[in-house]
Amino acid sequence: MTKKDQQDKERAMIIAYPLNDALYLNITNRCTNNCRFCIRETAGGVGYNLWLKQEPTAEEIIAFIGEPTRYREIVFCGYGEPLMRPEVVVEVSRYLKNYPVRVRLNTNGLADLFLGYDILPQLEGLIDVISISLNAGDAQSYQELTGTGFGTAAFDGVLNFIRRSKQVFPKVIASVVRYPGVDIEKAASLANALGVEFRVREFSE
Ligand code: SF4
Repeated sequence: MTKKDQQDKERAMIIAYPLNDALYLNITNRCTNNCRFCIRETAGGVGYNLWLKQEPTAEEIIAFIGEPTRYREIVFCGYGEPLMRPEVVVEVSRYLKNYPVRVRLNTNGLADLFLGYDILPQLEGLIDVISISLNAGDAQSYQELTGTGFGTAAFDGVLNFIRRSKQVFPKVIASVVRYPGVDIEKAASLANALGVEFRVREFSE
């Protein structure tokens, strides 16, 4: 294998990496939050080096996916917030719609605030599952845990995004990370009141 082939292979593994029977797409390292529990800040991360030297184009991502049906699920996640690149999420998920594979989007739920418009209509029919980081049970804790620059508007924005997602996607999950300062019971009852599935993710050091 030439040095160039090796570099291409390494880049492919940073952008599209398999975990169990799913393929995860790392399309950006940018995010408007700075969460205390962010996996980007942990030593081990997800077990791969996911720092991008250059963000991939939609065409590159599609090429790195290969045969989509090899996976049970394809997930937009990243070491960052996928909806920082809404046009790429739309283009790649539109391509994936040609295959019988489940498509999931993991997002921080702040797209209304950082994009300044409602992206949900563009994602309708393309995303099967949306997993939204609720992160906390109230606005004050949310702010402390995520370091958001949007102030108290952030938590309300996430709740609003969850409510609207319910009208758009077949499955909506609100998630928190098990971490000091996260009131899991409070967040769970909030998710319950919103009528969405609730999931606790374990903090990985
Ligand atoms: S929203 Fe996600 S990617 Fe962004 S800082 Fe928080 S944990 Fe990290």
